[in-house]
Amino acid sequence: MKSMLESFAIALCGLATSVLAALANVAIARTTGADIFTLALWVVVPVGALLVGFAAASGYYLGSRYFHKRASAGLLVQMLLIAAFTQLLIYWTGYATMALEDGRKVADLVPFGAYMELILTKSHYRIGRALSDVGEVGRLGYGIAALHFLGLLAGSLAVFLYLKELPVCEACSRYLRSMANKTKRFADADSAGAYYDRLFAIPVDGPDFAALIQTDADVEKVEQGALQVHTTLLGCPVCKAQMIEEKVQGYNGQDWKDLHQLHRKVRIPAEVDLVPVFLELRVAS
Ligand SMILES: [Zn+2]
Repeated sequence: MKSMLESFAIALCGLATSVLAALANVAIARTTGADIFTLALWVVVPVGALLVGFAAASGYYLGSRYFHKRASAGLLVQMLLIAAFTQLLIYWTGYATMALEDGRKVADLVPFGAYMELILTKSHYRIGRALSDVGEVGRLGYGIAALHFLGLLAGSLAVFLYLKELPVCEACSRYLRSMANKTKRFADADSAGAYYDRLFAIPVDGPDFAALIQTDADVEKVEQGALQVHTTLLGCPVCKAQMIEEKVQGYNGQDWKDLHQLHRKVRIPAEVDLVPVFLELRVAS
């Protein structure tokens, strides 16, 4: 029952952001003349629709994170259906709010179907810096609308794939929540390796592990070749199982770059609670 209610709440979050994204798109188009949804790069890459798709699907992301509920195949189907709904809503809101210069509402003059045919096939596309008019798009307009739909789908899919990558408790199908974190910086790979290689070579419930986690490591001045390790203690909101996630970044002289091959997630045995270790709390004895 609780799980069903959560699914319903997540669906509502997704619906809310889709409606907001569609309404915001039409409002911006009406006030500035720029229709974000139809923006395309090199004519065929629907970046505008992709952005609207992200915004529309953001509610699913926030809802899933809030309830720690793992994204399922059912959620993906729902997200794709809502993407179609978002596109329809953009068209319909455009229709309902369009007025002629003399103030007459378009919705009072033509039915929605006729309006759709008109805006899809009679649109003029302007291409290049000079915005040269390539004429009416005709039947190609349906293809362009399909391209916009693909952009929306890609935006939703990106949100779903991001959700799929988040650390999860396999037993409970729940997203883990962050309990504590530490960042250490090392001047070079050798000193970083001394920490990185040793951490999980020693028992996680022993004093050496605690000392290694609690010892601060930093460098006076960040120079090329420096490494930083972000260590996050994650916990399941249901069964309280813990996991340590470590992300390593290297400094190339200008930026910190993720070193994905050193990224690791390590499960902590069920009876071990590392929160006091990370928060450096002294357990009263
Ligand atoms: Zn769990």
